[in-house]
Amino acid sequence: MSKRDYYEVLGVGKTASKDEIKKAYRKLSKKYHPDINKEADAADKFKEIKEAYEVLSDDQKKAHYDQYGHTDPNMGGGFGGADFGGFGGFEDIFSTFFGGSGGRRRDPNAPRQGADLQYTMSLKFEEAVFGKETEIEIPREEECETCFGTGAKPGTKPVTCTHCHGTGQLNVEQNTPFGKIVNRRVCNHCNGTGKLIPDKCTTCGGTGKVTKRKKISVNIPAGIDDGQQLRVSGQGEPGVNGGPAGDLYIVFHVRSHEFFERDGDDIYCEMPITVVQAALGDEIQVPTLHGKVNLKVPAGTQNGTRFRLKGKGVANVRGYGQGDQHIRIRVVTPTKLTDRQKQLLREFAELSGENAPDENEESFFAKVKRAIKGD
Ligand SMILES: [Zn+2]
Ligand SMILES: [Zn+2]
Repeated sequence: MSKRDYYEVLGVGKTASKDEIKKAYRKLSKKYHPDINKEADAADKFKEIKEAYEVLSDDQKKAHYDQYGHTDPNMGGGFGGADFGGFGGFEDIFSTFFGGSGGRRRDPNAPRQGADLQYTMSLKFEEAVFGKETEIEIPREEECETCFGTGAKPGTKPVTCTHCHGTGQLNVEQNTPFGKIVNRRVCNHCNGTGKLIPDKCTTCGGTGKVTKRKKISVNIPAGIDDGQQLRVSGQGEPGVNGGPAGDLYIVFHVRSHEFFERDGDDIYCEMPITVVQAALGDEIQVPTLHGKVNLKVPAGTQNGTRFRLKGKGVANVRGYGQGDQHIRIRVVTPTKLTDRQKQLLREFAELSGENAPDENEESFFAKVKRAIKGD
């Protein structure tokens, strides 16, 4: 059986870049992976794609292939040692791009970064606006001091796992319509570490880790908003086998305020004024996050009129300026009137007569009147 050209298999040109080859492989391997594609020839196609990629993604093998074409396996030369047999789990396709060693699982004893941690912090409205320095206590796993993280009782040592011979993986053979498939999975005897601990450390119970509460000081930047998060580098769980620690992510929940509302860097509020203040005008005091501010309300101010106090909002958390405070006027109609007040209002109405209270509203009042008459 003659083999198809590797470039043809991946559907790329002879001059394709490494990136293009990788992309083509990724796409095709997803399409033909036997876990996904149930067509009869999917397994063969997948094998062919994988083989083509193993060669074209390796500079040395690619150069050899470009010069000599397919190497005859009977000649014993070339790259006969490559293992195209097992399919592995679906994720193996993707680990190929990181490992570089052709789909084999990483070494269980290689350094690995510790897990990231998440912490939710509740803030008062003003704390989010102005930021603050605080200390938090987070429970996190740290290396056991009794056994220095080995999990073995002092004076004893972990031994190589007899089930997986220290590889941390077991091969499981499976008969399928496509033939025998070898799946690799994490060794359940040693949980992939490749080691067994005959005498467990009593402090940590053999895990090599203990949970400790650690205090971390956090500088919350001014202008942080609800739902935003802050990354504290290196404050996650410790790394494994000497790898770097993970990161700590603090997610903020900002409580609401009884008077102010916030939208991004802008603050919104509603100011009540009396009918008299609205009609005659007045200077009112408006609370802001930065102290009270005097605001001139002109005579004839309508309900719903908006004013803006520039720069009285929230400082942008990334340093892009400062928001504004927006005020919406609410004219409050009095409900409890004394007899004298009622009398004065009736006099006011008589003086106003049929006239609209504002010349701009004249046409609106006229419309209402016409609607009542049914014109
Ligand atoms: Zn221990
Ligand atoms: Zn094992």
